[in-house]
Amino acid sequence: MTYALELKNVTAGYGKVEVLHNLSMAVPHGTTVALLGPNGAGKTTTLGAISGTVNVSSGTISLGGAPITTLPSFMRARRGLVLIPEGRGVFPGLSVEDNLEIASDSAQGVTGAWKRAQRDRVLGLFPRLGERLKQRAGTLSGGEQQMLAMSRAFMAAPKVLLMDEISMGLAPQVVELLYDAVAALKSEGTTIVLVEQYLTYALRLADICYLLAKGQVAFVGDPGELAGETTLAGYL
Ligand code: ATP
Repeated sequence: MTYALELKNVTAGYGKVEVLHNLSMAVPHGTTVALLGPNGAGKTTTLGAISGTVNVSSGTISLGGAPITTLPSFMRARRGLVLIPEGRGVFPGLSVEDNLEIASDSAQGVTGAWKRAQRDRVLGLFPRLGERLKQRAGTLSGGEQQMLAMSRAFMAAPKVLLMDEISMGLAPQVVELLYDAVAALKSEGTTIVLVEQYLTYALRLADICYLLAKGQVAFVGDPGELAGETTLAGYL
C-alpha cells in the first residue's frame, strides 16, 4: 500500500543528540493524524524530519511512495508538503497581501484563476485579513498571524499539511475559526498531520492518533481506542 506520507525506522536529532529513535509512521491518503505526547516527546522534531529541517541519520521518509529523505525543504514543499510551524509561519516584514502571494509560489500546477479564487476564499474565511491587506504581518495580533499562516497553507495547495500547535496562546473563538478552516481542507481530501496540545481539537479531526514518548511510538490507534487506554493518561 502506498501512503501519502510514510516514515520507516527514522532516527533523527540535532547534531549528536538523537531525539527520534527508529520511529515509523504511516499516514494514508486523505486522513488526519494527530501526533500527541508530553513535552519533549519529539513531536516538533518529527515534523522537522518530515519537512526537512531536522537531520535524519537513518531510516526513510516517503511522500506518495517517493523517497524524500534527502531532499531539501523547498523541494519537499514543491511536492506539496506544507508546514505551518510552531509560532506562526508568516514573514513579519511583508504585508498580508505579499505573504499570501508568495505562499503560492511553490504550488505546482496551479493557475492564476485558482490563485485568485483561493485568495478570495481565505479572505472569506478570515475577513479580518481582508481589512488588513496592506498591513505588515508582524504588526498583526497573534490570532490574525495564525489566520494568515493558515491562509498561506491554503494558497500553497498542500497535498500533505503539517501543523504544529496552531492553537498555541490563542483565544478559543480564534482556535474554533482556525479548526473550521482545517476541517474544510480535510473535507477536500488534504492529508493532515497535526501536533496539538488541546486534545479536544486534535481528537475531533483525527482519524489516527500516534502517541510519542521519548522519541518513540508508544501507541497508535483511533481516537476511541486512545480514550479507552487509561494507562496512557500519564502521557497526555
Ligand atoms: P513540546 O510539546 O515541548 O514542543 P515536543 O514533543 O514537540 O515537545 P521536541 O520539541 O521535538 O518535543 O523536542 C524533543 C527533544 O529534542 C527535547 O528533549 C528537546 O530538548 C530536544 N531539542 C529540541 N530542539 C532542539 C535543538 N534545536 N537542539 C537540541 N535539542 C533540541
